[in-house]
Amino acid sequence: MNNIVGHNKIIESLKSIIKSDKISNAYLFCGIDGIGKFLIAKEFAKSILCLDPKDGVYCDACESCKTFSSTSDLVVLESEDGLIKVDAVRSLCREIMLKPTISDRKVFIINDADTMGDPAQNALLKSLEEPPKYATIILIASNKSMLRKTILSRCVTIDFSSLSNDELKQIANKYGIILDDAILDYCGGSIGKAIRLTQCGYFDLVEELEKAINSGSLIEMNRALVELKKYKTIKEEINDILNLLINKLSKSLTNDCNRRVKQISIIEEVNENIKRNINFEDSLDYMIVRIWEEGNRRK
Ligand SMILES: [Zn+2]
Repeated sequence: MNNIVGHNKIIESLKSIIKSDKISNAYLFCGIDGIGKFLIAKEFAKSILCLDPKDGVYCDACESCKTFSSTSDLVVLESEDGLIKVDAVRSLCREIMLKPTISDRKVFIINDADTMGDPAQNALLKSLEEPPKYATIILIASNKSMLRKTILSRCVTIDFSSLSNDELKQIANKYGIILDDAILDYCGGSIGKAIRLTQCGYFDLVEELEKAINSGSLIEMNRALVELKKYKTIKEEINDILNLLINKLSKSLTNDCNRRVKQISIIEEVNENIKRNINFEDSLDYMIVRIWEEGNRRK
């Protein structure tokens, strides 16, 4: 837990929970996707299960720590096809009744707990009402309003806030990734989103589009457009790319500010149209021609 970047207050309070040995039966880790909730839940679980924690953090030397990756004292439930299924929750509830094997506690992490439907939440509620003393359930959710009040009332809620740009840069550096300012501004403090946008190739395309727009050449712009159209199957990808392009253009220097503002507003208009399911090939063709016209308009 000591190597985690950001969320300092949360880390300190989790450490003090371990130190005081006042571990609750249920926690809810809540916050936007991609900010480290699952990573911290696993670190917290390891510290809960550790047989000899030091200063609120696992020792990494005891039998529990050494077998942490394969121990049956930790059960992780993930969503399947975007859903935590009721059968999976029922099996977790059966598992909860089996005593721990190595540690004196058991931890259950339910990732994307807000994807549990009503039957799954009902099944879980029974375990939350009368949990065995040794059990701790950690629910992870980005949208807690999807969880029933009866579940929320049984959990200690820990709210995670977005990461700062400096923290995002530090985390990315650990993985040898350099984040562009346009991505930092767009990812809303989510390291998951920032890394995804950097690694999926969108950003290379955004830079290509920016270069083409700055060149003022319709041939260059059409070349970049062909690449952009390859993303046509997923509307959200186009929206991400256009939003990044808007951020990038807003930051790049130009000696004609009005022209740049107009070009950006054309992209914003087209982005909105695509969100509203207006034919996106036509929209993108229109966007490129309008940007080119704007770029070549006489002052
Ligand atoms: Zn240990």
